[in-house]
Amino acid sequence: MLFEELNLIEPILKALQTEGYTQPTPIQEQSIPSILQGKDLLGCAQTGTGKTAAFAIPMLQLLSKPHTNTKIHKAIKALVLTPTRELAIQIEESFKAYGKNLPIKHLVIFGGVGQKAQTDALHRGVDILVATPGRLLDLMNQGFISLKDIELFVLDEADRMLDMGFIHDVKKVIAKLPTVRQTLFFSATMPKEIQILADTILRNPVKVEVTPVSSTAEKIQQQIFYVEKNDKRGLLMHILQDKTIETALVFARTKHGADRIVKDLVKVGVKAEAIHGNKSQNARQRALTNFKAKTTRILVATDIAARGIDVDELTHVINYELPNIPETYVHRIGRTGRAGLSGTALSFCDAEEKEFLDDIEKLIGLKLPVTEDHPYAMSWQSLMSGAAAAKGKSKAKPSRGARPPRADRGAGSARTEREPNLSGAKKTAGAGGGNRKRWGNKPKSSNS
Ligand code: AMP
Repeated sequence: MLFEELNLIEPILKALQTEGYTQPTPIQEQSIPSILQGKDLLGCAQTGTGKTAAFAIPMLQLLSKPHTNTKIHKAIKALVLTPTRELAIQIEESFKAYGKNLPIKHLVIFGGVGQKAQTDALHRGVDILVATPGRLLDLMNQGFISLKDIELFVLDEADRMLDMGFIHDVKKVIAKLPTVRQTLFFSATMPKEIQILADTILRNPVKVEVTPVSSTAEKIQQQIFYVEKNDKRGLLMHILQDKTIETALVFARTKHGADRIVKDLVKVGVKAEAIHGNKSQNARQRALTNFKAKTTRILVATDIAARGIDVDELTHVINYELPNIPETYVHRIGRTGRAGLSGTALSFCDAEEKEFLDDIEKLIGLKLPVTEDHPYAMSWQSLMSGAAAAKGKSKAKPSRGARPPRADRGAGSARTEREPNLSGAKKTAGAGGGNRKRWGNKPKSSNS
């Protein structure tokens, strides 16, 4: 299918041409016609599938229709709620790109920066507002934002909102929306609380599913390197001697770990920068810009900071440490191989992480190939005896090796970075519980 077949208006088609898009991705093909008909939508998709354009393109088209009510000329007509600053910025960039030939005004607001520029822009009038929940509520409470004229509402990454403890804020925002509106709801997974929320706020939604998270891994070339913890540094340097690796996104589990890797790389003359929650918004943006421009070869990121990083031509992801949540592995490697390009994911695995690797292989249904031909290779025997010792230790401390209950994992885990709670809301302990289920066992289409 071509974009021309989706009944899109000329200014949008032209903008898509400029972007170099020719064919809609599966989620775009399935969502755009229904959204244009004014229907609610429940979309199961993660970043990398083209989901932003799947909602942004039809929204722009719907909002480009002349509004007869001149009173609402300056009112906010569409709201996109998304969990992180990085995602918010990228979504607004998408509106800018696809809407470049339309007179539609959009604005992105998020916390961690001054509000003056945001409130000034709000005064000038905004059609589409992209926001993170904390700053949105803050500006609503101060009287800068009214949601009473919202016609279109997008809830993006609903499951992440839950993971990050933002779900109460999201509900507060929803309570302020007009009841008559069109709602587009996106989530990669459907824990029970998210399913309930979707059932409450959607009206006869069209359901669209693209490949569930576990199967995105198939098209990325993956390799495992068994290595002692203390040899990981040497192994990274060894791998980076390969000059065909122009740029790589390296994942670290903690902010401190990310900084240490950068220090080591810089010491040996490799241009590297870190991106994590302790860095200011400006520093994070700068690091990302340098990485995209390839002036920085290696970007070292924690999971939360990396969420939403959108680098079209990223060829390599390196897991310096394996995540203890298998879905996180899939999200990480999904940063490469995007929009149909090929990608390589290299993962370092020490004895303590062998259990995480087992969980990952179970989730993706693949046995990952092991590269033994490297100077720091660890024998199978030492790996397994180390793994058994780690498991023994974890028996004494139940949360160590086994996957902890969901509420203790991800953003709330002591072993992972925690995103600052912009709103000051309490974390939702126990949310999601054991009811987390992945949508659609059978992949309907491949990710783009
Ligand atoms: P998203 O899932 O929204 O994060 O998009 C993933 C990437 O795919 C982004 O870099 C988009 O610019 C790109 N993209 C989205 N739709 C298309 C398309 N139809 N053709 C080519 N690239 C696309």
